[in-house]
Parts: sequence; C-alpha cells; structure tokens
Amino acid sequence: YFITFEGGEGSGKSSILKSAEQKLADLGLDVLSTREPGGIEIAEKIREIILNPEHTAMDARTEALLYAAARRQHLTEKVLPALKEGKIILCDRFVDSSLAYQGFARKLGIEEVFTINKFAIQDLMPDKTLFFDIEPKKGLERIAANKDRERNRLDLETIQFHEDVYEAYQMLVSKFPDRIQVINADQSFEQVESEAVNAIAHFLKN
Ligand code: C5P
Repeated sequence: YFITFEGGEGSGKSSILKSAEQKLADLGLDVLSTREPGGIEIAEKIREIILNPEHTAMDARTEALLYAAARRQHLTEKVLPALKEGKIILCDRFVDSSLAYQGFARKLGIEEVFTINKFAIQDLMPDKTLFFDIEPKKGLERIAANKDRERNRLDLETIQFHEDVYEAYQMLVSKFPDRIQVINADQSFEQVESEAVNAIAHFLKN
C-alpha cells in the first residue's frame, strides 16, 4: 500500500512519519518510509536545486516541472519496486503537495498542475493520505521555535502563501473524501502520533 503524509509547514508530519514507521514495524508490518522531493539520489539533487534559498529567480512553472521530475524518478526507482515487494510505503508528501503549493498557492491552477503530474505518475495515486491539519500561523510558530530545522526558499514566503496552501488542502479534502483523512495536528506529539497510527491500522484492516 502507498500511504502519503500531507500538510503545511510545522504540521509535524515528518516527525510523526518516522515514529509511525517504527510503531508499524513493531507490529510486524513491512514498512518503508521515504520523502518527497527526494528519497533517492537524483531526486535529492533536484530537491537541492528547488529549495536552495539563493534560487530566488526560480520560475513557478520551472519549479512545478522539477517537482514532477523528482516525483517521477522517486516513483520508478523506489516506490514502484517497493509496492511490487508488497511493502507498506509511508511517503512524506506526494502529488497533493504540488496541487496545493504549485497549483493553488503559486496560482498555476490545480487542474494544470495535475495534468503535468499525470504525465509523471501515470495512474499511480496514493491508496490513503493523511492530512495533518494545523492552522498555518500555529505551524509557523512551531518552526520558528525549532532552531535545528533546515531553512529553505519557502521560508521567504508570506503568511498569505501558507494560508493559501492550507485553503488548497481543505479543497483537496472535500475533493477526495475517501482517500484523504484529516488528522488533528494541533495536539501533543503523542496524540497526533496515535491518531495517525490508528488511522493507518484501520485503513490496513479494511
Ligand atoms: O515537507 P518538507 O519540509 O520536507 O518540504 C520541503 C519544502 O518544500 C517545504 O517548505 C514545502 O513547503 C516545499 N514544497 C513545495 N511544493 C511541493 C513540496 C514541497 O513548495 N510540492
């Protein structure tokens, strides 16, 4: 199964993903965790290009194409082989991120960005997606408090940009109600983790 984690900055999804992986492995499940953009060498290199804070001249369409390219490579090199082996893949971000960030917040159009991504992913959509729901302001406060976090080009964005990302995720939740499950990320780490693990366990049982 292909399970993706989505959310805005400071939603905690990446830390939860790591500990959820451990919890599911402890239950005897064959889990693989990975991330986008990245997960394999070629895509990590594309990630460096996209997120480099010095690349302020990056055009929005170039950015969207690079995300789609990184996604394609990650899919063929890592996700598809793991799916074939019957693994449960937990992936930090996938196509919904592009729809929210490039499609809506960067105003390229959700449908247009979906179109270029269909070229990249063909028909592979996640079996389940968890959306880590926290108000952008609160998420950004969490990040500001975390001195160890790597900084990137997105740190130069306005609060409005992050509000737009959030609004886009809400739209995606209504568009794909069966696939996307909302996790309340505005709780303690333990609470969010247990909500996420329960959601995955429930999905795998049914
Ligand atoms: O989730 P993570 O923090 O690793 O994402 C790295 C950065 O890339 C974030 O600032 C995120 O908002 C941005 N991003 C983006 N468009 C995507 C995926 C990630 O702007 N499609």
